[in-house]
Amino acid sequence: MSLRIVHYNEPVLRTKGEKVITFDAALAELATEMVETMHEAGGIGLAAQQVGRPLQLCVVDLREADAEFTWEIDGARPPLDLFMPLVLANPKLSVAPGTSESSLEEGCLSFPKIRGEITRPEAISVKFQDERGVPHQLACDGLFARCIQHEIDHLNCVLFIERMARATRAEIDEAVKTLARETKAAAKNKSS
Ligand SMILES: [Zn+2]
Repeated sequence: MSLRIVHYNEPVLRTKGEKVITFDAALAELATEMVETMHEAGGIGLAAQQVGRPLQLCVVDLREADAEFTWEIDGARPPLDLFMPLVLANPKLSVAPGTSESSLEEGCLSFPKIRGEITRPEAISVKFQDERGVPHQLACDGLFARCIQHEIDHLNCVLFIERMARATRAEIDEAVKTLARETKAAAKNKSS
């Protein structure tokens, strides 16, 4: 079953995700539904906030991404097919001092049709638990690192428009305001 994707500026996008403590069938089912929702929407990442659940939980799948990147998970470099879609619960991001940064245009499933260039560290490492609660350590770069940073931002209620340079943000301002108005109107129609 695919879930409804929350659009800007629904309040849940501004709610910090709670730590995942119980790794039960309900959590696994939520993760599966998030993966289905992400695939259906053609995205490469989705955070729990984006389906209305403020939890430290996100999913990513870069198997279809047309980009070069490297990764190491638990000290090995398995093929992507073996560990994607990847479920990350309670991810803890770290960026090594001196890591170079790069800029790339990003989109977000909560901001349909809005895109903008964002500068982020090129490589990261992240500690997380999978949907069964098993801890893992991942190091990655390129689009993989960018995608995970974007999703972890959601878990901490940071939206990609807040990472944009002032000039980039100004260019999309009208579209962002229109989206916020549409989201508000849709919520009103639903409750009346
Ligand atoms: Zn997003």
